[in-house]
Amino acid sequence: MKKRIVVLGATGSIGESAMRVVRALPDHLEIVGLSGRHNTEALLQLAREFPSAALCTGDEASAAILQQHLPDRIITHGAAGLKLLATLPAADLVLIAIVGTAGLRPALRALEAGKDLAVASKEILVMAGEEVMATALRTGRRVLPVDSEHNAIFQCLEGRDPSTVKRLILTCSGGPFRTSDKEELALVQPEQALQHPTWSMGRKISIDSATLFNKGLEMIEARWLFGIPMEKIDIVIHPQSIVHSMVEFVDGSILAQLGSTDMALPIQFALTYPERIAGPCAPLDLAALGRLDFETPRLDLFPSINLARRAGTAGGTLPAVLNAANEAAVEAFLEGRISFPGIWKNVEQAMESVPFVEHPSLDQLVTADRAARESVRN
Ligand code: NAD
Ligand code: MG
Repeated sequence: MKKRIVVLGATGSIGESAMRVVRALPDHLEIVGLSGRHNTEALLQLAREFPSAALCTGDEASAAILQQHLPDRIITHGAAGLKLLATLPAADLVLIAIVGTAGLRPALRALEAGKDLAVASKEILVMAGEEVMATALRTGRRVLPVDSEHNAIFQCLEGRDPSTVKRLILTCSGGPFRTSDKEELALVQPEQALQHPTWSMGRKISIDSATLFNKGLEMIEARWLFGIPMEKIDIVIHPQSIVHSMVEFVDGSILAQLGSTDMALPIQFALTYPERIAGPCAPLDLAALGRLDFETPRLDLFPSINLARRAGTAGGTLPAVLNAANEAAVEAFLEGRISFPGIWKNVEQAMESVPFVEHPSLDQLVTADRAARESVRN
C-alpha cells in the first residue's frame, strides 16, 4: 500500500529533495498535500505534477492566483491552511520542512489527528521538543528524524537497548570557516557564510552551519528525539560529511551511518520507514573518497556550541529563547544590520535578558520566543 504524504515547505531545499524521493518511488509514496509560502510558480508546477494534492500558500492573494489555474483543487492559505493540510483525512504522514517554528502547531495537530511526523524543521524540536515528543507518545504516533545526523543516530539505535547507549556523537562539517581565525570571523560577509563546503541548503540553515548554531540546535534536537541527557551528546568535526553521526555503546563499540551528502537519503528513510528500499541516491564510493578526517571543535571561536549546551541542560524556556534569538540574528546578519560574531553576541544577550520559566506551557514558550526576537531587534 502507498504511504500518503503531506509536505509542508514543499518549495524549499528539503521539499525539493523530498519530491525527488517521491518521483523515484511512485509505488510506495503518494503526495496528498503541499505547502509553499512565497514561490507560487513552483507550487503551481508541483500541483500540476501531483494532481491529488491539496495546496496551501502563504497568503490569500497567491491562493487566489492558484485557484484560477486549478479551479477544482482544495487551496488554502496561512496558518489555518497549514492546519488543514496537517490534518487531511487522506494523509498518513506529514513531513515538516518549513524553516523556523511556523511548523510547530501544524506538527502537533498532525499527531493529534493520528498522523506520523517526519521532521526536518529542527527549530520546532528545539523550541518545544518536550511537547512534541509527549504528544507523539500520547497519540501513539512516530516522530521520524529527517536531519541527516538524527536520521543516522535513529538508524544506529534501531533495535538497541537504550540503557546500553553511552553517548551520541554528532558529526559536524565545521562549515565554511572551519579553519578561520578570530580576525577573519569578525569580517565574514553574508555571501561567504552562505557557501557551505559540503551541503547545498536553504539560507537560514546555511548561516547556522557557518556559526555552528546548526550543531547547537541539533544537540538539543537529539536530546528530545532520543530522550538522552545533554551531557551524553558530543560533537566531532568531520569535514567530508560522509559519516552522518554515531552512537557509542557501553562496551566501547561505536556504530556509524555513512552515505553521500544528499538529503534524499535520510528523507527517504523517514518517508518509507520501517521499510528500507532502493531509491534515487547515488551509492558511496569509499575508495574514491580516500580518507575521512575527524577533529575537535574549536569551542572558544564558535560559542554557539556551549550556548546550546547551556540551553539544552537548563531546559524550560531557554532553548526557545536561543532558537528565536538566533533566527532573528540570522535575519539581521543577512540584512547587513549586525556582524557575523554579532549573531553569537545577540543570542547570548537574549538568553541572559529574557525571563526564564522552568516548566513552560506552549503559550509561555511562544511568549519567550517573541521576547527573544524583540531583544535582538533592540
Ligand atoms: P528553505 O528556506 O529552502 O525552505 C523553506 C520552506 O518553508 C519553503 O517551502 C518556504 O515556502 C516555507 N516557509 C518558510 N517560512 C514559512 C512560514 N512562515 N510559513 C509557512 N511556510 C514557510 O529551507 P530548507 O533548507 O529546506 O530547510 C527547511 C527545514 O529543514 C529547516 O528547519 C532546516 O533547519 C531543516 N533542515 C534542512 C536541511 C537542508 O539540507 N536544507 C538539512 C537538515 C535540516
Ligand atoms: Mg543536520
